[in-house]
Amino acid sequence: MNVLVINCGSSSLKFQLINSDTEAVLAKGLCERIGIEGSRIVYQPAGGEKETTESPMPSHTQAIQLVLDALVNEKSGVIGSLGEIGAVGHRLVHGGEKFASSTIITDEVIAAVESCNDLAPLHNPANLIGVRACQELMPGVPMVGVFDTAFHQTMPEKAYLYGLPYEYYEKYAVRRYGFHGTSHSYVSKRAAELVGKPYDSLKIIVCHLGNGASVCAVKDGKSVDTSMGLTPLEGLIMGTRSGDVDPGALELIAKKEGMSFEDIMTMVNKKSGVQGMSGISSDFRDLEDAADKGDQAGIRTLEAFNYRVAKYIGAYTAAMNGVDVICFTAGIGENGVSTRADICAYLGYLGVEIDGEANRVRGEEREISAPGSKVKVYCLPTNEELAIARETVALVK
Ligand code: AMP
Repeated sequence: MNVLVINCGSSSLKFQLINSDTEAVLAKGLCERIGIEGSRIVYQPAGGEKETTESPMPSHTQAIQLVLDALVNEKSGVIGSLGEIGAVGHRLVHGGEKFASSTIITDEVIAAVESCNDLAPLHNPANLIGVRACQELMPGVPMVGVFDTAFHQTMPEKAYLYGLPYEYYEKYAVRRYGFHGTSHSYVSKRAAELVGKPYDSLKIIVCHLGNGASVCAVKDGKSVDTSMGLTPLEGLIMGTRSGDVDPGALELIAKKEGMSFEDIMTMVNKKSGVQGMSGISSDFRDLEDAADKGDQAGIRTLEAFNYRVAKYIGAYTAAMNGVDVICFTAGIGENGVSTRADICAYLGYLGVEIDGEANRVRGEEREISAPGSKVKVYCLPTNEELAIARETVALVK
């Protein structure tokens, strides 16, 4: 079956068409600047050239229509007709406490996701616009929602409750939810396969280090803790997000700078993280270049990033009373050779030993721990689209 995987944001939409039998990507691409002037679609068939076409997309419906047109296009299309799309898998960001697994999308599911909009005001409404546009253009094709939060619904109360008055959890569901669940689930399952032991017998820590970054503790095949919280702002230092910060610091900055709550939220989401700390870039390639040239801002920013990751690994090792496997994934985790080495340098007390030669890997699945290491460490590329396609097929079949 061919599955169209859709990741719909407020002004962009990423897509992949995946043959679920071979797990091959038939075509992929993205629509940018939806609803804004200068919108364009980037489309790439497997083995073919990337095509960029400027085209007006006043709404997501037009964007998805352009995606479907590209997929059946006589010259560069990869299917003969839309009838060859068996199902659509949608990435949905926040399922609150309502969704502990992926689900077939029905009117009731849409209403339940809408009821979580307060928890992810930027993401959930945009995700649902994508769902509705697909329903309009592909009536009768089954759709599945795969939630970023679902994998973490196994966390125990002690891990998800904040040290805040309990009434806010009861009234507004204020708690830790965690994100990147599709990635943490995919990577930890793959790690168990590589180790050759049952998934439900292992203690695994996954470090998803991309522009957004989170760490997850997976014990016996279940997420037991993760660093992102009610929103994707908590935890690690990220590209432009601050991660953990004392709210008192924000009060002080707001008073001194005359900033509103909205200003502060923009600052911690978009102007902080390694970008704000370094004043150089949110991209690790730029930071590494700067650090290599002896730039102090670059050096201290990378050190702070690595230190934060190492602290979370220590915390999650304590939470699970041990760790068997540590995985690095996403843009920085898969490519950041020195980042992986520097983080692991903190973990000697766990018996972690990195093989310097093996660690010189980018974007490939490989064990990077030395033969004598007490903990196995992997560079393990994530594949959220494939994970969404697998979940979709499992529910549709
Ligand atoms: P993601 O959000 O998973 O797409 O990750 C994007 C981030 O990965 C970029 O902002 C970079 O910081 C990082 N990245 C990508 N390629 C490399 C590389 N070759 N070396 C170091 N970092 C990289």
